Amino acid sequence: MRVYNFSPGPSALPLPVLEKAASEMTNANGTGQSVMEMSHRSKDYKPIIEKTESVLRELMNIPANYKVLFLQGGASLQFSMIPLNLAAGDMPGKGKKTAYIDTGIWSDKAIKEGKKYAAVEVRASSKDKAYTYIPDAPAAAADDAYYHITLNNTIVGTKWDKLPDTGSVPLITDASSNILSENIDVSKFGIIYAGAQKNLGPAGVTIVIIRDDLIGNTPDWVPITLRYDTHAGEASMYNTPPCYSIYMVGLVLDWVKGLGGVDAIAKLNMEKAGLFYDYLENSKMFYSPVEKRFRSLMNIPFIMTEQDEAKKTELESRFVKEAAAAGLINLAGHRLVGGMRASIYNAMPIEGVKALINFMKKFEG
Ligand SMILES: *Cc1c(COP(=O)(O)O)cnc(C)c1O
Repeated sequence: MRVYNFSPGPSALPLPVLEKAASEMTNANGTGQSVMEMSHRSKDYKPIIEKTESVLRELMNIPANYKVLFLQGGASLQFSMIPLNLAAGDMPGKGKKTAYIDTGIWSDKAIKEGKKYAAVEVRASSKDKAYTYIPDAPAAAADDAYYHITLNNTIVGTKWDKLPDTGSVPLITDASSNILSENIDVSKFGIIYAGAQKNLGPAGVTIVIIRDDLIGNTPDWVPITLRYDTHAGEASMYNTPPCYSIYMVGLVLDWVKGLGGVDAIAKLNMEKAGLFYDYLENSKMFYSPVEKRFRSLMNIPFIMTEQDEAKKTELESRFVKEAAAAGLINLAGHRLVGGMRASIYNAMPIEGVKALINFMKKFEG
């Protein structure tokens, strides 16, 4: 039996994608090989990476003056590559001024890493209220090298409802947990990056969508594999890319396209999240800690109304255990924030959300 998997990442993949991959496992496209066995430079593999890129460009409406890179190292490596490529000085540790907004643990990690190579200024933070809202973000200063935000905050379940005004300063965003969940106007950004393992495919590949003018100004001391110019110049083939993960992303993109593209999937996501938030609004046992206008469509933390700490802990662990026994897995909140969280990415069918709500209603008794 397939379970409903509410994991924040790596996360559930669409069943038709897994079935297609299984059917091609030992003989992909009549080549007599698995995609895993192909040389990344072969004529068999080339159409796979090219198709993945072209369908992504089509679905996200990526303008021609942007490159799409397939990198390794996760979204976390971008926390380093962004300052190294866009703000580092001629020597390590003497970088340019950059703006960051702190909206959660992932932003904080990007900030800490940025400080090693750039003069990071944190212009706003929502840490005062446990990151349950998105703070007012000031406009960029004209001499900022870039302005970094985390578009959807996976752990606390917030997302930006309105982008900051950065003028001609490149706006950079970590979209790991909401890429392809709804329309993103790529032309408003200098860089959009996302680890694949939430909404795009399995772990192992990170998508970087980068505007051409941001490539090629990296100081010489920056290592060869950490440079955007290296990867852009070789169409993500400077060294062996994560070939199989790229193939899987391609299958997920085909699936999204088959459902009608990003607009169609956004409509479904709004319906799914709407059902769940509505239930939480009316529940006596659970609530959402997040301010309404900033609520994520993808990651929905929920907390017990129970005030007695010991009783609450007992209830929470019983909830997670009984849910798992009912085929609803990975509902514990992040280890740093506690409570519960349902991650309902594109691949979570609406039936899974309904099953969770029914389970919660019964648990409430
Ligand atoms: C999961 C996640 C990351 C970390 O991704 P890795 O690929 O594990 O480095 C970074 N940012 C956000 C918003 C995430 O959800």
